[in-house]
Amino acid sequence: MEKFEQPIQVTKSFLPPLDEYIESLKTIWDTRWITNNGYFHNQLQNSLKEYLNVENTTLFTNGHLALDVAIKALGLKGEVITTPFTFASTTHAIVMNGLTPVFCDINMDNLTIDTNKIEALITENTCAIIPVHVFGYPCNIDEIEKIAHKYNLKVIYDAAHVFGVEVNGVGIGNFGDISMFSLHATKVYNTIEGGLLTYNNVMYERKMNLLKNFGISGYEQVEEVGLNAKMNEFQAAMGLINLKYVDGQIANRRRIAKIYRENLKEVSGIRYLNDLKNVKHNYAYFPIIIDETKLGIDRNQLYDRLREFNVITRKYFYPLITDFDCYKGLYNDNDLMNAKYVADRVLTLPIYGELSEEDALKITKLIKFVINSL
Ligand SMILES: *Cc1c(COP(=O)(O)O)cnc(C)c1O
Repeated sequence: MEKFEQPIQVTKSFLPPLDEYIESLKTIWDTRWITNNGYFHNQLQNSLKEYLNVENTTLFTNGHLALDVAIKALGLKGEVITTPFTFASTTHAIVMNGLTPVFCDINMDNLTIDTNKIEALITENTCAIIPVHVFGYPCNIDEIEKIAHKYNLKVIYDAAHVFGVEVNGVGIGNFGDISMFSLHATKVYNTIEGGLLTYNNVMYERKMNLLKNFGISGYEQVEEVGLNAKMNEFQAAMGLINLKYVDGQIANRRRIAKIYRENLKEVSGIRYLNDLKNVKHNYAYFPIIIDETKLGIDRNQLYDRLREFNVITRKYFYPLITDFDCYKGLYNDNDLMNAKYVADRVLTLPIYGELSEEDALKITKLIKFVINSL
């Protein structure tokens, strides 16, 4: 088979028609208000509240700092139960706040934290659970809520992957104490870089706003030890425009996922995740898990072979957090069987709004070609 002429990347950042952005830039030039709670910032905060169907929203310059502020706003201290199958950000935010991450294994159904294994990890020092909705799939929300309630623990969801996802018609940002959405260029919806906290308790709002602006509460008043995590007007203007396109982008992603599923169905040795009945999905990623004993080729070999055909997949998440140079040997990683299994066998296939159905189909043919030509 012929390789793709140009590399097909695992994702492609969405950008709106340039004219629309230039219109917004004119407003910024007219007002000279370029950051600090500007016109677009405040508008976007409201629009996202509506779009995500949540009670409260606070914007940040990126998702990581939003997560950092969420941890600080709740005043967490001690141990936090979390997942090792995530992006570096989740654990870094915990560790940089002087907290101890306690890693819980994932379940094989949707690769999120295994709620059956959480209780055994709770000690008198446990203050919170920070689970991650992985690849667009919601955690076992009901179970997490039960455990948090029983042991009086806070819950912050890393919701970086689940923009627009709903469970039983409820926006996913409504669960737990706080949810963090990443609005980074590589995510389903972007504000160039950006982050958002959603929460039900409006009491957190003031503290979040202080923390993201150096703790400054008045012209001659600094109330908190804060940081700078404000979203600027260029980001917010991009976000307002992109919000008009996000449903169309998700609809296209759904078509790609459908093609992948239909055409990889018969390949034994490749597992993928299916849609859930009660969930409105966003198709943020298309992970496949490779069983090398059935496929005759392992994850790394498939990754390399697809690269030769200009199909750029990603080993995501690999390595596991507990295997990072900066964390190796520091935390207990004995009971992480599923997480280790998946990290060694997962590949995410290209998926984004502008990927054509023809290209998606060709990618599935290439996968089968590679396997059959062994
Ligand atoms: C992208 C991402 C983050 C960090 O978000 P940024 O906006 O890039 O700072 C955190 N957690 C997960 C799971 C992510 O994928």
